[in-house]
Amino acid sequence: MVAIKLGVLALQGSFIEHARSIERCGARAVAVRKPEDLEGIEGLIIPGGESTTIGKLMTRYGLDQRIRELAAAGMPVYGTCAGLILLARRVLASSQPVLGMMDITVMRNAYGRQVDSFEADLRIPAIGDTPFRGVFIRAPRIEVTGPGVEVLAELDGKPVLARQGRFLVSSFHPELTGDARIHRYFLNMVSDMAS
Ligand code: GLN
Repeated sequence: MVAIKLGVLALQGSFIEHARSIERCGARAVAVRKPEDLEGIEGLIIPGGESTTIGKLMTRYGLDQRIRELAAAGMPVYGTCAGLILLARRVLASSQPVLGMMDITVMRNAYGRQVDSFEADLRIPAIGDTPFRGVFIRAPRIEVTGPGVEVLAELDGKPVLARQGRFLVSSFHPELTGDARIHRYFLNMVSDMAS
C-alpha cells in the first residue's frame, strides 16, 4: 500500500510535531511553504502559531488561493488552534485575512488571559473511550457552529473539536501529546475522500 501523503503548512508554528504524529500513523508528511508544495498532497494540516502572521504569509506567497481551490475540489483540511482560526468563516473582533471555509464563528484567545495555557481531559467518542489529553495554548473558542457542523468534543459547553464534511478543527494541540488518535481520525477522513 502506498502511504498517504499529507501536507503540513510550515510558514510558522509546529510543523515537526505534526509530522511526527503523522508518521507515527504510517503516513508521509511534507512541509508546505510555497504553492508548488501543495501538489500531490492528499490532505493538509494548518498548525498552531499566530494566525495573523500565518494568514499574512499565506496571502503573500499565494498559498491561500491554491488551498481554497484544492479544498473546493475535495481536499480535506485540519486546522489546529491558529489553524482553526484560519479555517473559520467569521473571526470576532478581527479583520485578519483567513481562508474562511468552515461555517464557524470564533473568538481568539478566549479561554482567559491569566491562564494562557492549560490541559484538560476530553471525551471524544469518535476516537474511542479513553479520554484525550487536550493541550490549550492561548486557544480560540468556537462560539457558533452552522447547521452542517458536527461537534466531536466539548469543554465547558463549547465545541473544541468539530467537523464539517472534509474540514476538521480543534482549539487544542493534539500534536503535543504522544496520542495520535486525532491524526489517525483525520487520515481516515483523507482515505474516505480518496475511495
Ligand atoms: N492565539 C493564537 C492566535 O490567535 C493561537 C494560539 C495557538 O495557535 N496556539 O492566532
